[in-house]
Amino acid sequence: MCFVPKKQYFCIMISSFGTQLERWYEANGRDLPWRRTQDPYLIMLSEFILQQTQIVQGLSYYLRFAERFPTAQSLAEASEEEVLRLWQGLGYYSRARNLHKATQKITEAGSFPQDYSFVRALPGVGDYTAAAIMSLAFGKPYAVLDGNVQRVLARHFGITEPIDTTQGKKLLRALADELLDRQHPALYNQAIMDFGACLCKPTSPLCVTCPLAETCVALKEHQVDKLPVKAKRTAIRDRYFTYIYTRTEDRKVLLQRRGSGDIWQGLFEFPMIESEKPLTMAEVEKVLPFKEVRGRLLLVASNIRHQLTHQRLHADFYCLTLPFADKQAKGQWTEEKALDRYALPRLLEKLLERLTNSFVH
Ligand code: SF4
Repeated sequence: MCFVPKKQYFCIMISSFGTQLERWYEANGRDLPWRRTQDPYLIMLSEFILQQTQIVQGLSYYLRFAERFPTAQSLAEASEEEVLRLWQGLGYYSRARNLHKATQKITEAGSFPQDYSFVRALPGVGDYTAAAIMSLAFGKPYAVLDGNVQRVLARHFGITEPIDTTQGKKLLRALADELLDRQHPALYNQAIMDFGACLCKPTSPLCVTCPLAETCVALKEHQVDKLPVKAKRTAIRDRYFTYIYTRTEDRKVLLQRRGSGDIWQGLFEFPMIESEKPLTMAEVEKVLPFKEVRGRLLLVASNIRHQLTHQRLHADFYCLTLPFADKQAKGQWTEEKALDRYALPRLLEKLLERLTNSFVH
């Protein structure tokens, strides 16, 4: 069977596409630790880490997790706090919480079931991650389709249908399934993922050395920088956070834990005021629940930006030194030197670096 052809040579392209990709991968694929195992838990771990993280950054986290939690059961039995702490710095912490819950479900099942419906129903596992686990760990014929693969397919087959519409998604899903090498799904999936990440990159793809250049529609029609097409641009919301690093003269720090329904659920942070626009120091002084803050409040950094998927955070960072720990204050007082035991959002790590470099320490 051939994918419904938009252009006559689609069938020829399809028949050689996988073979060329696999040859390229066998000669050029990256040697990564999770590619040397078929342990479904370790493959799942790598997929969770890489969901929104580059390989360079994710590699050390993978090694750390695999060492500390070598099995699904060992991770399942850890406290959420420990998991979040090990995840600290990677961002998108819902991944860590979902990974933790997923390992609990696997542990309850007794072993990792070779069952797509089970894997797909695990917390934090979407179509892409399920297909990756099923093919890489169990050799089952499920085609991966993520942003990398969408880009490769849209360019190589000249697909102008927006990839974020129902129609575009259906088209790409059908094409991805058609192209899958059912004899070697793990090899094919790894090949197309690596190809998208290393060669057919979002910007400056390496078309000159591309083994698929001869059959690439986008290259032939000078559409490489126009594909893939997206229908809508995601709106970015600006948020303004004022953090008050509240400490005592004997070096205790006030921490508060973030609740659910917003970013960074379950992580710790310093007292924070969110406002519609940046606050002046006088405005900050007025809303602080402590007496006599004037003169004790110091601005450490202002308008530090931090980009999340759909939000742009603007943070001001103050340091407030109190004579003693106010027991009425919301949150918990902890030793300043024990701060590294708490999982903090990456933004706060950035702010703490500023603090370390400032005159306060
Ligand atoms: S020729 Fe360029 S655009 Fe086409 S598949 Fe290769 S790298 Fe991607």
